[in-house]
Amino acid sequence: MYSQDSISGRRRGRPEPTAEMLSGLACLICGTDFRSAPDPEPVVVSHRGDKQLIACHGTCARMASGSVDGLEETPLPLAERVRRHQGGGL
Ligand SMILES: [Zn+2]
Repeated sequence: MYSQDSISGRRRGRPEPTAEMLSGLACLICGTDFRSAPDPEPVVVSHRGDKQLIACHGTCARMASGSVDGLEETPLPLAERVRRHQGGGL
């Protein structure tokens, strides 16, 4: 298992996900902030720990998960993701 510090591991070819990305508040691929985007239709593409990683439906989802529809999983409501982000996961 990796320690929590593995999040700070860099130089793997991809930009490091931001805290917003890790909380499902922004697209993992293009960084669109779902809190301000009108209707990006985000889909779950991966997980990190018990968090859903989310990307825009379509190209971003395909880059992240290999499918334009992402995983067959319903994202948490945006409000819930915001709450968890602000509450540190509780
Ligand atoms: Zn995107």
